Amino acid sequence: MNLARFPRIRLGHFPTPLEPMEALTRHLGGPRLWIKRDDCTGLSTGGNKTRKLEYLCAEAIALKADVLITQGATQSNHARQTAAAAAKLGLACHILLEDRTGYADAAYTQSGNVLLDKLHGAQVSRRPGGADMPAEMEALAAGLRAKGHTPYVIPGGGSNPVGALGYANAALELLNQAAEIGLRIDHVVHATGSAGTQAGLVAGLVALNSGIPVLGIGVRAPREKQEANVLALAQRTVAHMGLPGIVRPEHVVANCDYVGQGYGIPTQGMVEAVKLLAEKEGILLDPVYSGKGMAGLIDLIGKGYFKPEENIVFLHTGGSVGLFGYPEAFEVPAG
Ligand SMILES: *Cc1c(COP(=O)(O)O)cnc(C)c1O
Repeated sequence: MNLARFPRIRLGHFPTPLEPMEALTRHLGGPRLWIKRDDCTGLSTGGNKTRKLEYLCAEAIALKADVLITQGATQSNHARQTAAAAAKLGLACHILLEDRTGYADAAYTQSGNVLLDKLHGAQVSRRPGGADMPAEMEALAAGLRAKGHTPYVIPGGGSNPVGALGYANAALELLNQAAEIGLRIDHVVHATGSAGTQAGLVAGLVALNSGIPVLGIGVRAPREKQEANVLALAQRTVAHMGLPGIVRPEHVVANCDYVGQGYGIPTQGMVEAVKLLAEKEGILLDPVYSGKGMAGLIDLIGKGYFKPEENIVFLHTGGSVGLFGYPEAFEVPAG
């Protein structure tokens, strides 16, 4: 695997730390839990989209784009990191936010990621839930082209074979860190949504012949659909890397039992996981992705999915800014 031939622009702080979670491991009675801190990528409070944007923005600049367009849910971390990347690179940025939850309160619609989108100078506009967001982005791009601009359209979550290179590279970074400290990684677990993170990780881990399985905890789609999305993108990513055919269906595993009522809708398990990590490890998860991912990991540990002596790496994909969009979900008793 040689990723150095793909153009990349530095936007974040890498490598992100790989740390043990000793208190959480003790609290749960094993397995040995580690955390890969991709919440600490540095760009506008960090998160997993920064790795993807390093490759996507390099392509945008090569194509002489002057404006980035992307889309996401109202509290999209991807939109916020794209707005920050555009600011840093001197590009304009248009963000389309889809109302996937129906929440109309000021915290959800104005605080958290939305506040930061605007601070970074992005133009934010809203679309109703269920809108055809790729078509909406294309319409916006056509309008900008007609005015003489060169837009670069980034798909939701930055999930295409270019963006996924960021996580193929993260796989290499993680294996190097594990080798340095003599850590045998038995599983990688993380929250999966638009599929680019898991697709890139699987592409990298398979290309490097690591033998390490990845478990994606779904936050939106049912399992069959999520696995099909990840597999298709992982296969396109390895083809883009010049290694077609190396990813097979057995490399892609998702568990979508922790979505609850839907994307962005809090679950009790998520609230408990966010509070537990905050109290035991001083780590902030998020309500939409990493909180549900951790809820899944904790529940699977309770069900004996992992062996006590195994080393599990939880990839923290970021998103804690989204906590400010959900204050009532975490209401702590007065007193
Ligand atoms: C986008 C996101 C994910 C999911 O990553 P995908 O590549 O979209 O599957 C997980 N966690 C956080 C905090 C995110 O913002």
